[in-house]
Amino acid sequence: MCEIDQELRTKLRAAFDALESLGAYCTPDKGFAPQSIAIENAIDELVDNLLEVVGHCDGCTAIILVGDQGHRCHDGEAHLCAACAYTWGEVKEQWDKDEHGGDETDHARFVTAYDAHIAAGGKPTDKMLRTM
Ligand SMILES: [Zn+2]
Repeated sequence: MCEIDQELRTKLRAAFDALESLGAYCTPDKGFAPQSIAIENAIDELVDNLLEVVGHCDGCTAIILVGDQGHRCHDGEAHLCAACAYTWGEVKEQWDKDEHGGDETDHARFVTAYDAHIAAGGKPTDKMLRTM
């Protein structure tokens, strides 16, 4: 595993963003152009060789690196980048509507964290972020 310092992180971010802006994730109606497949393979190779990649954002497909700010759902399966992350208020609403799917222990843990966030001067509209 290679060490990712801030400079390399910035370069990787720029490379990923550039690849994605070229249409690495093409939509079904546009088909899979050869250059698109080549770009997708290049991204896959980068991801495979960088163990410090957490995964793709489930909201926008941005690549999330270890150490980035992001959102991880309570089941640990889904990841969101900082831009797509839910706010504290949105997650609270999911729990209140019983849409969250977690058990009571998860719920109690969230309520404790939510209350602590508000008590510390946080707002419901703050993104619920953690270091990935
Ligand atoms: Zn995203």
